[in-house]
Amino acid sequence: MKVFLGGARGSWPVSGGDQVKYGGDTFALLAEGADGTQVLVDAGSGLRNLLERLRPGATLFFTHTHLDHLIGLPLLAGEAWPRQLVSPRGGLPDILARVFSPPVWPVALPAAETPVPREPLTIGGLRLSWREVPHPDGCLACRVDEPATGAAVVVATDIEWQAMSPDAQESFADFARAADLLVFDAHFKPEEYAAHKGWGHSTWADALDAARRCGATQLWLMHHAPERTDAELDDMAARAAAEFPGAVFARAGVGREILHE
Ligand SMILES: [Zn+2]
Ligand SMILES: [Zn+2]
Repeated sequence: MKVFLGGARGSWPVSGGDQVKYGGDTFALLAEGADGTQVLVDAGSGLRNLLERLRPGATLFFTHTHLDHLIGLPLLAGEAWPRQLVSPRGGLPDILARVFSPPVWPVALPAAETPVPREPLTIGGLRLSWREVPHPDGCLACRVDEPATGAAVVVATDIEWQAMSPDAQESFADFARAADLLVFDAHFKPEEYAAHKGWGHSTWADALDAARRCGATQLWLMHHAPERTDAELDDMAARAAAEFPGAVFARAGVGREILHE
């Protein structure tokens, strides 16, 4: 399985001279199986960096529908429009109709299947599962497994780790057990969290805790706060990597093959 990251920024897209290295596009991730199956997770503005790889017939899974996770969706209209838009939380057709309708957006979105699965989904050679995590309006963490190779990636874009009880954290760790790559919310610095309780996000130290608890070997920290500069992210990345060698502050445009160890 290969994983490509289109955008790692949180909340809203940014651009500027000191926000280049890590990119300003919001979250979109593409998991691609060895058999060519493509599963997109979320549709932030970072979708634009995935368009070249994307083929017709992909599945798009929504962790939730906050704007930063769907603002890139109109980009897909045309050849790249997904075969199915999956939201186990339901309500997707109504939500998209509210957002993408005149005068908010002038182009009607093409039709797609919008399944509301209750059980894990098998899509080609990939298996998709999910669980609720604490975040305002709710959010799903998702797991993409490739049974043929044993590779697994777990994505928790918007999650307030410290709002979870020890049991809930342990249940998440079971869900994410032995992931080869964990992609996790690192919106805040540890020293910022006290003033932002209830905002629905984690700190980079929380992400390290989650990675250790689930036994992930590689960790991509993401949902970078919009105001965060490259220099600040470099500093946070160095602090995180000193504590967890597999920790990387994710950058838009990176891709890697996920090998099961
Ligand atoms: Zn978000
Ligand atoms: Zn959100």
